[in-house]
Amino acid sequence: MVILTRNTAVRHATSQQARAALARVGLVHEGQFSVNKSDEEWQLELNPQEFQVLRQAGTEAPFTGPLNTEHRLGTYCCRACGAPLFSSDTKFDAGCGWPSFYQTLAGDSVVLRSDHKLPGRPRIEVLCANCGSHLGHVFDDAPQTPTGDRFCMNSVALKFVPAESL
Ligand code: FE
Repeated sequence: MVILTRNTAVRHATSQQARAALARVGLVHEGQFSVNKSDEEWQLELNPQEFQVLRQAGTEAPFTGPLNTEHRLGTYCCRACGAPLFSSDTKFDAGCGWPSFYQTLAGDSVVLRSDHKLPGRPRIEVLCANCGSHLGHVFDDAPQTPTGDRFCMNSVALKFVPAESL
C-alpha cells in the first residue's frame, strides 16, 4: 500500500516524470482499505447518485451540489464511511462548480492514483483512504491558494459536519 501525500506527489505531479511515478506507485489493490463492503452493501447505504459517484467513479454535474455554496465552519467527511477528509479552513471558491479544497485534513486522509480514463488528459484521482470510495480529482491549478492544489470534490461524495455539532 502506498499513500501519497500532497507534498510528495501532487506538488510535482505536472511533470511527466512525476506522473509516471504516480502511475507506478499509486495503484490501489484489494484489501488495502479498512472498510470493505460489497456493491450490494453499499447500495443499501447510499442513494443511487451517491453510489454512482462514490463507488463507480462518477461525476456530478457542476454547480448542482449543495456543498458548493457551503460556507460554514466545519469538517467535510466521506459520505460513504464518515472519515474526516477536509476542513472548511481550506475550502475555496475555484469557480469550477464543485467544492474545492487546497489541502486534505491530514496527509493520509486520501489515496491518489493515476486516472487515464479521459483520452489525452491524465488526471489524479482522489480516493478516501479509509474506504476507497471515489471523491474526485486533484489538480495543481490553484496558484491563488497556499498550496497551489485544487482538490475538486463531488458534493455528493462528502458529508458536511458543522463545527457547532462537533
Ligand atoms: Fe470513505
